[in-house]
Amino acid sequence: MARRRQRRRRNWNPITLLRRRLQRIDRQSASRDRSRWTKAADWSLLLSMPMALLLSLFLDANISRTSWENLADLRLGRDGRGAPLEATILRKDPNRSPWNFGSPLATVQLRQQTIEHGWPFPGWTTLPPLELLAVPLVDPSMTIDLAAPSADALLETLRSNTGVDLTDALGVLLVTLEADRQQAWVENLTRQETQTSRAWSATLATAVAIWFLLFLTSVLLIRTSQGLHFVAAGWRRRRVIGKLKAGRCPFCNYDLSGVRYPKKCSECGRKIWG
Ligand SMILES: [Zn+2]
Repeated sequence: MARRRQRRRRNWNPITLLRRRLQRIDRQSASRDRSRWTKAADWSLLLSMPMALLLSLFLDANISRTSWENLADLRLGRDGRGAPLEATILRKDPNRSPWNFGSPLATVQLRQQTIEHGWPFPGWTTLPPLELLAVPLVDPSMTIDLAAPSADALLETLRSNTGVDLTDALGVLLVTLEADRQQAWVENLTRQETQTSRAWSATLATAVAIWFLLFLTSVLLIRTSQGLHFVAAGWRRRRVIGKLKAGRCPFCNYDLSGVRYPKKCSECGRKIWG
């Protein structure tokens, strides 16, 4: 037994043989794997492009941001009871300007709402008609968009509840704005049209950004699994060598130390040498 082992080590060391053989397999599989992983990266570059385009169109349709811009502050009031309704445009901070009406009635804010669709770059932008938001002084919790079709009903409610009559406020405000040469605002308020503008370049920029992110993510995933694959292969190889060193079948752990070069395991029948 001792002699046999000695001879084996001197002439035909199975450990060295196996290690060489496994190294050769590993080299071969490493070159095969490398092309496989590279192929995966190539495919992910190709496939992430239509995905990015679809995703960018999806974001255009489903993500939107709304912002408001205050264009002007106005005030409504009368000089006295029974006097006609009047409006003024404020030039300074509304909180610091004194009221110049005998009978102040409401503050009015001219606002532009902007809805941007898409993320991170807005592929299209919607501009609804300007808002003319009146807040009556008698009831500051109430906000009436004088330019909207719902204004008449709300003004009627205000009149019946508080006696404040702002029925012709829109007309008075339009005349005041026109006198101030704000023709564009007047037209916008009269027409009540929603403007939409499409920016394909922004959609394209979004698609490119998403494409890059998708590709980067998939390459990271591919590289990670490649690394894990090699770690697992190395672990398997070390385990097989360890088993054979201990004279056991690497698959079923059967004691093979009595056999010189087991071609296959006498227990599980799996190939060990050759
Ligand atoms: Zn076995």
